[in-house]
Amino acid sequence: MKILDGKLTSAAQKREIAKKVAQLIDNDIRAPHLVAVLVGEDGASQTYVTAKEKACISVGMTSSVYRLPAKTTEKEVLEMVNFLNNDPDVDGFIVQLPLPKHIDEQKVIEAISPEKDVDGFHPVNVGKMVLGLDSYLPATPAGILEILKHYQIETEGKHCVVVGRSNIVGMPISIMMGQKRNPGNATVTLCHSKTRNLAEITRSADILIVAIGSPEFITAQMVKEGAVVIDVGIHRIADATTQSGFKLKGDVAFDEVAQKVSWITPVPGGVGPMTIAGLLANTLKAAQKNR
Ligand code: NDP
Repeated sequence: MKILDGKLTSAAQKREIAKKVAQLIDNDIRAPHLVAVLVGEDGASQTYVTAKEKACISVGMTSSVYRLPAKTTEKEVLEMVNFLNNDPDVDGFIVQLPLPKHIDEQKVIEAISPEKDVDGFHPVNVGKMVLGLDSYLPATPAGILEILKHYQIETEGKHCVVVGRSNIVGMPISIMMGQKRNPGNATVTLCHSKTRNLAEITRSADILIVAIGSPEFITAQMVKEGAVVIDVGIHRIADATTQSGFKLKGDVAFDEVAQKVSWITPVPGGVGPMTIAGLLANTLKAAQKNR
């Protein structure tokens, strides 16, 4: 078994991004500016936004975070989105999900200008992605393609099974893996909670991508010998033996599955860092396009 190392791969990708940011600055063009809007006090969201902020700064970009209280109304969030859409100093922005229950996420996503939608969640960008047109690709699927490319994992003609059909991971990666390009050209099966005989299908996967949000759900008996496994899930599991009091686990039972497969992403250090690099790549693209 070999590790698909997201830390190493994203570091290489970030070095390339940093070079391009430096070129912009050398040409007297201001650094790309990414804004994150964070509503409420969700612990995981705060961690993600802090990580994104640090990554931005590490490649020479400008990062701003608007922290709004949990009681912020939908109208106020939409006003903030409108303000950012029209702010010429902002190249791209994200509204960190999930939003508090009283705010309609889809309404907020649709209010974001597609040109500044560096999360790639706006229907215009999703539609362009499906058609294979130039767009902002959602960061996690883009990160998965990047790590497959980095390790030269052959995807053409392979059976790729995706478990999970969320709008941000499962659905887009299932489309992207089937598209006519490299990585891509795979034969894709998309599974979800209504799938029958899930284990039978996952066992037929040459490439298994798991994004279901259920800790260590995929066990060794659900994977084929020699498969490539991409684990998107992230879970904090209480663990008194660690200083933090928790351990991070994925949707895949890493210790047992790793014994059987050819390549696997660890958690942490797999898809997570690739997602952040994907967001930076979109921000750079926005800065290059929107000027
Ligand atoms: P969602 O909760 O939005 O979607 C989960 C999907 O999994 C749904 O399509 C659901 O099916 C399916 N599912 C749930 N249970 C089962 C089951 N028992 N068998 C088969 N399918 C099942 O999750 P996300 O895609 O947003 O996230 C998934 C995981 O990835 C989470 O742990 C999340 O934290 C993590 N994540 C990590 C990122 C990273 O950067 N590493 C980025 C984004 C997410 P149905 O549609 O039928 O309900």
